[in-house]
Amino acid sequence: MAAICVFCASSTTLSPVYLTLATETGAALARAGHVLVSGGGTVGMMGAVAAGARAAGGHTVGVIPRALEDREIADRDSAELLVTETMAERKTVMVDRSDAFLVLPGGLGTLDELFEVWTIAGLGLHPKPIILVNLDGFYDGLLAWLDRAVADTMVRPDALKAITVVEDLDAALALL
Ligand code: AMP
Repeated sequence: MAAICVFCASSTTLSPVYLTLATETGAALARAGHVLVSGGGTVGMMGAVAAGARAAGGHTVGVIPRALEDREIADRDSAELLVTETMAERKTVMVDRSDAFLVLPGGLGTLDELFEVWTIAGLGLHPKPIILVNLDGFYDGLLAWLDRAVADTMVRPDALKAITVVEDLDAALALL
């Protein structure tokens, strides 16, 4: 059993494909006996992953900044709801409470969270696995840019090894 942190979109106007992915991710983590750590809101994929985990009997930990409790509709059903004073503290708590990170499709906030854990892993400050779920090539553009950045020596090739890119949820679960 591990605590798995899921980063994903909070948008409320998503295609059902993404919401289904989030629901199935939460349910699969719960069935595997893992604790879910997530953003502590009920909106978008973030809400779906937590609801999916609980529907499958899982323990959920939500971490939400006080300033977003209304906007992201804080997840009062979460087994633990941790309210932070700042956005930065939210990420720190999520990192501290988790053994591994699963990054699903998302927007700017998801990228911020991905790069937060990736950059500190690249500096050797935590050894926790980071898995990027590149569903339907969602992150192809980002991965192509990273190749370019490595080619231009802006990014160390080793840094890329700090994340594992998979194509779907099953592959991610197999790694966990
Ligand atoms: P998004 O991918 O933009 O839908 O955002 C996903 C989640 O990331 C949302 O819960 C945002 O509140 C959160 N988020 C956005 N920026 C930050 C940040 N700087 N620190 C912590 N969480 C953030």
